[in-house]
Amino acid sequence: MTKRRWKIALIGLLLTGALGCRSDGRPDIVLVTFDTLRRDHVGAYGSGLGVTPNLDALAERSLVFDAAFTTMPTTGPAHASLFTGLLPYQHGVRHNAAHVSRDVATTRGLPRLLRDHGYTTACFTTSPVFGLDTLGFSGFDHRDLPTDPLRTGIDAVDAALAWLDADPGQPVFVWVHLYDAHSPYGAASEKIGGYPIDLDSYGWVQGTRFARQPVRQKIAAAYARGVADADAALGRLVAGVAERRTRPTQWIAVSDHGEFLDELLESDGYAYDHGALLRDPVLRIPLLIAGPGIEPGRAKGVVSIRDLYTTLLQIAEIRDSSAGEEGRLDLRFPSDEPRIVLAERRVYAFHQDALARWGPEVSRKIRRNAVAAMDGEHLVVAGEDGAPSLGDGAPERLLRLARDVALASFAEDGTGGAEVDAQTREMLRGLGYVD
Ligand SMILES: [Zn+2]
Repeated sequence: MTKRRWKIALIGLLLTGALGCRSDGRPDIVLVTFDTLRRDHVGAYGSGLGVTPNLDALAERSLVFDAAFTTMPTTGPAHASLFTGLLPYQHGVRHNAAHVSRDVATTRGLPRLLRDHGYTTACFTTSPVFGLDTLGFSGFDHRDLPTDPLRTGIDAVDAALAWLDADPGQPVFVWVHLYDAHSPYGAASEKIGGYPIDLDSYGWVQGTRFARQPVRQKIAAAYARGVADADAALGRLVAGVAERRTRPTQWIAVSDHGEFLDELLESDGYAYDHGALLRDPVLRIPLLIAGPGIEPGRAKGVVSIRDLYTTLLQIAEIRDSSAGEEGRLDLRFPSDEPRIVLAERRVYAFHQDALARWGPEVSRKIRRNAVAAMDGEHLVVAGEDGAPSLGDGAPERLLRLARDVALASFAEDGTGGAEVDAQTREMLRGLGYVD
């Protein structure tokens, strides 16, 4: 190579370095997903239980969303919506063992986009759902997945902090997933061997097992202890990040879905689970963002977990060009404009199986709970045939939308079940995760 060509190559290298380092000013992004956290257990949302002091402290300096909804009360699909900006029937993950569809995997994926734009990306997860490599979550420079299906949030946080001990020299995107509130309920020491639920029932409760109030109170208290553990993990993460990072941090805390305790026990024979029926306790989620440029306060407008896709991209100065067309918001700029958001029920891949296990009445309930449409005030639920099963008195527009989406999304009940190895399938089944 001539001297001149060396010079050009050197300048090129320096330029590339400068461009690759567009990190000036961009914050670190730390996303914490609280699995199965009910909104009404969070102090910032009015809970008097006192089990979320760390989340409440973060909420003090956050924009807190009062009307936030998930897209499906099921872990994999809800996270896939967060990471792709799409509804489950669009991204293809409609139950926990499903793949994100191929075209979505190649064009979407928040971690990959952030990495391609100069973020160092890492995830620390606590659920076997994310150990499958099926959700299109490629794009993490560092992946720390659970080997124990009951990995604690504290363990994941310690791994995240150990990873942050080495400064990658550019902004980081860190996703920590906290599973502590999920069943089996209880603090970490109680979970093994202490299942308060019948794991074979998938929430469809048989007989009179939970008829007595003291039993229900004991289960609810155990659930709250799991929430407290997740909150303690957040506390350690917030303190640990502050110690290690000099760059400002954009915090996002959100639940992927809530949980039914005993609300539907009498009316529907469904309890201590999520995924099958579409109601407020599982659809309405805590969601808050804190950090540079965020004015602490309350946002009343209706938002969806999938808005976080747009929000996180734009925080990283990556324009989400399809946000308008696909109906997503940048949550840093909240709006009180009327808005409808949608959610789906988990697709049960094998209706015949459900029929055999639970009987025709349960199968009918599953079919009648296909899609929910929410405007913050009203909740409309439509069945697979588009007929409304909940939402008397709701505006016509809401009813029509629920019907149309139910018909569009459940027209074909092909679910694209993943090729899951036997061991993983068993682990998921043990947690009530596959049907
Ligand atoms: Zn979940």
